[in-house]
Amino acid sequence: MNNTSDKSERHRKAMAKQKAKVDQRIAEAATEQGVLLVLTGNGKGKSSSAFGMVVRSLGYGYKVGVVQFIKGKQLSGEELYVREKCPEVDFHQMGTGFTWNTQDREADTAAALATWEEAARMLRDESVHLVVLDELTYMLAYKYLDEELVLNALANRPPSQSVVVTGRGGGSALQELADTVTELKDVKHAFKSGIKARKGVDY
Ligand code: ATP
Ligand code: MG
Repeated sequence: MNNTSDKSERHRKAMAKQKAKVDQRIAEAATEQGVLLVLTGNGKGKSSSAFGMVVRSLGYGYKVGVVQFIKGKQLSGEELYVREKCPEVDFHQMGTGFTWNTQDREADTAAALATWEEAARMLRDESVHLVVLDELTYMLAYKYLDEELVLNALANRPPSQSVVVTGRGGGSALQELADTVTELKDVKHAFKSGIKARKGVDY
């Protein structure tokens, strides 16, 4: 056997072995239930990944709910698209009542609680397949929302419902409750070399 065919034979065998392992793991994962995902860390990609799952769910005709706990200064592309083109998405954003700048704790807490009511409603509705709670972790970190209230609602949601929570921090209890936790690592970000946030990429 020459060198090339020897190499491809080894590759074929390695791939077959790998496939057998993956097939076995797929066969063993037999539980059908919704999952709680936490996307955290300093790297870019938390909210945009959550919106990727929104699109996936919509592809199957599922009902989706999105609650954004921080209203940015800038409109985002996903907000524009979902509001205009996806009436099947129950979309809510913390209103302008949220006052990062003024540090008005009472107003912030009231805004967070009012927004949480929308999330809580979705978390009781088994017809909603996927709920995205974007930037929820900050509400816990700043104690605008009670951790126990939030964790109870997440834990007692309909079994078929999946939830994606995004944001940095959020505490260990949330991560313990979650089925999937991904920490996005900031290796490099264009912003740090002076490149402006890009429409359709960053917002
Ligand atoms: P995205 O919405 O792009 O998925 P994200 O949800 O992970 O980002 P956020 O903390 O919510 O991150 O911030 C959103 C905005 O901040 C985006 O414009 C994103 O490009 C930018 N951003 C995210 N991570 C970093 C970082 N490590 N350094 C600089 N800018 C960042
Ligand atoms: Mg985000």
